[in-house]
Amino acid sequence: AAALLVEGLVKRYKGGITALDGVDLRVEPGEVFAILGPNGAGKSTLINIVAQITTATAGAVAVFGTALQQDPLATKRLVGITPQEIALDPFFTVREVLVNHAGYYGFRDASAHVERLLERLGLAEHAHKRTRQLSGGMKRRLTVAKSLVHQPPLIILDEPTAGVDVALRRDLWAFVSELHQEGVTVILTTHYLEEAQALAGRVAIINHGRVVRCAPMSQLLNSF
Ligand code: ADP
Ligand code: ADP
Repeated sequence: AAALLVEGLVKRYKGGITALDGVDLRVEPGEVFAILGPNGAGKSTLINIVAQITTATAGAVAVFGTALQQDPLATKRLVGITPQEIALDPFFTVREVLVNHAGYYGFRDASAHVERLLERLGLAEHAHKRTRQLSGGMKRRLTVAKSLVHQPPLIILDEPTAGVDVALRRDLWAFVSELHQEGVTVILTTHYLEEAQALAGRVAIINHGRVVRCAPMSQLLNSF
């Protein structure tokens, strides 16, 4: 089954904005897939539906062969989402955020995995700090770590490098490549062609809530 299958997805917000206007996408297991589009194209709406933060007006979404509606909890466990807006409890430490999040997913003995994520995302020396003491970059690293705590086979990163400095962008790009090598399916949104080019095997271009192009990166570059 596809890692992500989106069929005929429509989202109309109250007030009449059509954020998604019939989106079809199929992402295979193990791919790094970019969703490229300008602000307002519908990227976050698409992610919010897959994350089950909001519901679609019409259409269907399945992950690894299971429709979201068929089994909301099981499908949530299969997906890790790195949202664009960073929402971290200011009073917890970095380590506590990860341990607590593992707890939500029912992992009792997550500490080895948490320590490894702290290490991999360059958070180990900040693990004891409360999140309100963190820089924006450190918060971004923690948000990525949090989305991986339940070891999902699919991770979706919403504009992972928007507003980050060059060093963090480089680290996040390297991290995405590592995930790919480990067999994790990665979907990322970006409005930055160079990022799609650096990371993705295939890309969908989305505009005004529609997929206007979906192709291997190499084909797409030849057409510019
Ligand atoms: P981006 O374009 O980078 O995804 P936005 O500024 O469009 O970010 O959206 C930020 C947040 O505000 C999102 O959670 C989105 O759902 C919400 N949002 C965006 N536009 C509206 C709107 N017109 N009314 C209510 N919420 C909105
Ligand atoms: P992107 O992530 O590509 O910037 P979004 O999915 O955030 O796009 O937004 C797509 C469209 O939907 C925009 O016109 C935005 O203003 C609108 N929108 C997003 N969230 C909301 C919301 N919660 N309520 C109303 N309109 C929204």
